Amino acid sequence: MAKCPFCDREIDCLRVVRWEDCRAEYSVAVDEAGWLDWKEIDRDVYDTEYQVKCPKCGGVLPLSSYEDIQNFLRGEVLLIRGEDAEIIGGHSALYRGRIYSVDYEERGILCLRAI
Ligand SMILES: [Zn+2]
Repeated sequence: MAKCPFCDREIDCLRVVRWEDCRAEYSVAVDEAGWLDWKEIDRDVYDTEYQVKCPKCGGVLPLSSYEDIQNFLRGEVLLIRGEDAEIIGGHSALYRGRIYSVDYEERGILCLRAI
C-alpha cells in the first residue's frame, strides 16, 4: 500500500485539488420578467495543475499528473524522504536493502521505482 513520506502512514486514497480552465458556451435570452436567461449549450474543461495531499497529515506530495497518482496508489512507485535512501550512481538509490531507480526528486522527496 502507498505510504506517505511525511507522516509514514499507509494511505489508500489522496486529496487532490485541481485547477481547471473552462470554456463554456451559452444561449442567452431575456425571460418574461426581463431577466437574462443563460442556458449552457457546451462546456470543455482542461486541467491545468494538481495539488496532491496526504489525507492523513495534509503533506503536499510531489505528484503532478494522473499517471503519477495512479502509479503511487498502485504501489508501483514509492515516495520517500531523500535522507532515508542512499543515492548510488546517477539515477539509482539503495532503500531498505533494495536498489531502486530514481524517477525524480522534488523538494527533498524521492520518487523510487523498483528495478
Ligand atoms: Zn501523511
